[in-house]
Amino acid sequence: MAFLIRVLLLAGIGWLLYRAYIRWQTTQNQHRGAPPPEKFEPMSRCTGCGLYLPSQSLSPSQRCGSCEQKR
Ligand SMILES: [Zn+2]
Repeated sequence: MAFLIRVLLLAGIGWLLYRAYIRWQTTQNQHRGAPPPEKFEPMSRCTGCGLYLPSQSLSPSQRCGSCEQKR
């Protein structure tokens, strides 16, 4: 009878480990499959025409492309 209890105990431990492994794998996949967080782009106003544009598209003097060409 003690042998049967030991077998059941080992089976239970194995099942718990299996469940933990599956859960760990799914969380790993979720982390890998998750899309990267959307980047927030700060908006800046062109000093030439007053147009709001992403600050990356403005020149160092805070002017848009067309205003830079006009100068
Ligand atoms: Zn402009």
